[in-house]
Amino acid sequence: MLATESFDRLWVWDDPALGGALNWYRQVATNRRPAKFRIAATVPAQFTPSSDETALWAELDRLTPEFLACWQDIRVGRTTLAPVQRPNLLDLCDALVRRWLAHCTFCRWNCRVDRSHDGSSRIGACKLGEASRVSSHFHHPGEELVYRGTAGSGTIFFTSCNMRCAFCQNGDISTDKDNGIDTDGRTLAAIAWTLRMEGCHNVNWVGGEVTIHLHRIVEAIALLGNGFKPGPADLARARRTRADRFCWHDTRAEDASYAGHLNAPMLWNSNFFMTDEAMKILRLLMDVWLPDFKFGPGRCAMTLAKTPWYWETVTGNLLMLHGAGEDMTIRHLVMPGHVECCTVPMLDWLARHMPDVPINIMDQYRPDNFCEPGSDKYRPEYAALTRGITRAEFSAACAHAASRGIKFETITFEKARRFLG
Ligand code: SF4
Repeated sequence: MLATESFDRLWVWDDPALGGALNWYRQVATNRRPAKFRIAATVPAQFTPSSDETALWAELDRLTPEFLACWQDIRVGRTTLAPVQRPNLLDLCDALVRRWLAHCTFCRWNCRVDRSHDGSSRIGACKLGEASRVSSHFHHPGEELVYRGTAGSGTIFFTSCNMRCAFCQNGDISTDKDNGIDTDGRTLAAIAWTLRMEGCHNVNWVGGEVTIHLHRIVEAIALLGNGFKPGPADLARARRTRADRFCWHDTRAEDASYAGHLNAPMLWNSNFFMTDEAMKILRLLMDVWLPDFKFGPGRCAMTLAKTPWYWETVTGNLLMLHGAGEDMTIRHLVMPGHVECCTVPMLDWLARHMPDVPINIMDQYRPDNFCEPGSDKYRPEYAALTRGITRAEFSAACAHAASRGIKFETITFEKARRFLG
């Protein structure tokens, strides 16, 4: 059976909360619809190599309504995919983000540092220059069932982050900017191409944080939308970061094609601390969104993650996406001692603004990074976070979600179903 067929038969789709919230994603994952990047490749753009950045932004603003109208028509089956044009909206995004890198404001830190070459005298909060490092990539068997499906989520882990979560569960890659391997656009495209051709249900861009790698990801997606097929050298470079290289995966183009071209839903798995401008680009490329909504509106984002403007930035991005009818599910990790200040106000806000969006309330907090007493990195000011959450804390979080009518049960408890029968 094809991976797309087994994915389409997952029992979770019987839950209207998931089937409704992720309908576009499911259509693209099963190749009944083209991914957004395929649509963007059909929208002709007017610019030249000498166009300045202001002109490129203006062209993006001009073409976005055209793209969205085309997406909507394809979404409801009113039209089919047009032929690829050059230069197109993907080329425009690629050119724009390259110029933007010289005064980077990809995320809310708005550092405005020049990242267009490595070795710049100033660095931003993410500590990155032009290079993007991939720590690992593989068929992820542990994401939510709607993402891992039967063949895994095609997950690409990037290094470094723009937040400083003391308890980070991926501290090895988020705090070490030199982890992993410098990965250029062709190699990244080859990684994504391979994962999808092997049956992965999506290309899952994650970190650390992914927003800080926007330029490299846009470059890779532009290549994929413009007919890229990896050669032996690309595939050899891609294998360097493969974490599951000893597992055999068949390659089947039937699992990965729409109208004879590579097709794959793009999944943005992020802390959602990006700017409005970054969202303008991402909305043209991402088919499904996986925000990690951590902190409430109080000071916890500052005391635990050294991140100002957290609440207004994340909620602003969520509101924009929800208002635009985008597919998403949200993750929230319950933290010890933070149900009242973080979990409850976050759930209240979601119930008020987007009660139809499924939330995964996660219980797997473990003391890690600066909160792990046995680690050299441990800092005593985080002593309150050196324990796991209690059963009472998780129950309180779920009870509050239920009382507010939030759709969380299926996506939160689907892994327990195996044991419950
Ligand atoms: S990605 Fe964010 S943290 Fe990094 S330089 Fe740009 S604005 Fe600053």
